[in-house]
Amino acid sequence: MTTYNGKCHCGQTEWNVKLEKEQQGHILCHCDTCKYLSGSTFTLNQIIPKANLKITKGESDLKKYTYYGDSGKAVNCYYCPNCTSHVYHHQLVMGDDTIIARTGLLEKGIKEFKPAAEIYGKARLPWEKEVAETFETLPPS
Ligand SMILES: [Zn+2]
Ligand SMILES: [Zn+2]
Repeated sequence: MTTYNGKCHCGQTEWNVKLEKEQQGHILCHCDTCKYLSGSTFTLNQIIPKANLKITKGESDLKKYTYYGDSGKAVNCYYCPNCTSHVYHHQLVMGDDTIIARTGLLEKGIKEFKPAAEIYGKARLPWEKEVAETFETLPPS
């Protein structure tokens, strides 16, 4: 297990996540919500136990944006109120103890991690090349 430091764009929020060896990669999400929230074509994520995320600065100031996912259950997005960087997401369908960390905001992660898998491949734009094993929506659980 390795600890990776993350921070938001303005520096008001700082955190770290602990990742097992097999989690040290990016899960690319091509879903339409990720396109909106990032202003880009996909986001970079890992699903981790909530206990492996530690917010070390600015936690009490984080704001929450809620939308409803494919499951019909809420997805809470926690973001820096100053610069709007999303620190983590909590999909209620996954239970209370699991969250989605943004691997693209980890200082070492963004430079060193490789694509590990692609999800919501059905929404990948036609000009984007496949870079990892791709699932139409989510991997079978
Ligand atoms: Zn910020
Ligand atoms: Zn997505």
